Amino acid sequence: SKETLILLYGGRSAEREVSVLSAESVMRAVNYERFVVKTYFITQAGDFVKTQEFTETPAADEKLMTNDSLKDEAVISPAAIYEKGAIVFPVLHGPMGEDGSIQGFLEILRLAYVGPNILSAASTMDKLLAKHVFEAVGVPQVPYVAAFADENQAMICEEVVKKLQFPVFVKPANMGSSVGISKVDDLVSLQPALMEAYKYDNRVVIEQGVEAREIECAVLGNGGEVSATQPGEVVKDVAFYDYNSKYIDNKIQMDIPAKISAELSEKMQAYAVKAYKAVNGTGLSRCDFFVTKEENIYLNEINAIPGFTQWSMYPLLWENMGLTYSELIEKLVDLAKSAFEIRE
Ligand code: ADP
Ligand code: MG
Ligand code: MG
Repeated sequence: SKETLILLYGGRSAEREVSVLSAESVMRAVNYERFVVKTYFITQAGDFVKTQEFTETPAADEKLMTNDSLKDEAVISPAAIYEKGAIVFPVLHGPMGEDGSIQGFLEILRLAYVGPNILSAASTMDKLLAKHVFEAVGVPQVPYVAAFADENQAMICEEVVKKLQFPVFVKPANMGSSVGISKVDDLVSLQPALMEAYKYDNRVVIEQGVEAREIECAVLGNGGEVSATQPGEVVKDVAFYDYNSKYIDNKIQMDIPAKISAELSEKMQAYAVKAYKAVNGTGLSRCDFFVTKEENIYLNEINAIPGFTQWSMYPLLWENMGLTYSELIEKLVDLAKSAFEIRE
């Protein structure tokens, strides 16, 4: 008999639209010889709504139901998604999806799930904690200053002037999708940028701005068996890779594999695996680096549930390594099942 794959999509974060597109890609590419697919939409308010079920490949133009298309909104108790033996794929980004909370919930339900475990989700979602971990294991990153809302802001600004050079990037620790992030060109603008960031989190990272290429590496595996792809480059025609350029204007192009030396590529893969293991990486992650003209490499961040549409960087990096999108989904399900067996 077939296995049940449960897709959770939508969610509370700013990235909910990407989540819907990723879930639709998965739903179309699943191997229906092996799986039936049941889907649940999570509203912006955090309610779970039962949506479609698929037993065979849906039509290419079939859309998953979202806020606009839901007819009679049948809100269920989140625990009602439970089905013995099912595997859950939380195709959710940002707070609640990628921060360990949904993962903890699925562990309490005793369900297998694709992607990061509680620790790897929570630790990579927090930009400040992640920096401390990368530093501890010797993965290079740009210099930074930690800022807290309840501290003396003038002293934080002083520390920035001492340690960093403008421009700097100010980022709330717990957000994704460039929400609340600003580029700051001078000291006068620093305090307002901090105030803006504190609206999202009382822990903030101030980072050295670098002029760099953005090169990303896909990592796959659980614990002892982890592999990384050849990196790909995000080729931008906008100065700042913000939310609009990322998702709305579609101004991003990819270069896969990235045009860099084999030596640089290997170095990057090794750092990606090291950082992934340090956060107890499980399932998958996309490790995003900055590479300067002088070929200095800095790890920017780990995205534990990266964009997962068929045309997203993560699946394309694996495709370049010979693993198709459908095979990648099956591999992730198998990793989910083996992590589940160890837990149980
Ligand atoms: P998010 O988690 O929202 O993707 P990032 O930390 O990746 O946040 O920042 C978003 C984008 O802002 C990056 O992809 C890059 O274009 C730019 N950026 C962030 N930090 C720096 C930095 N220190 N120097 C230069 N550009 C940066
Ligand atoms: Mg991110
Ligand atoms: Mg990013």
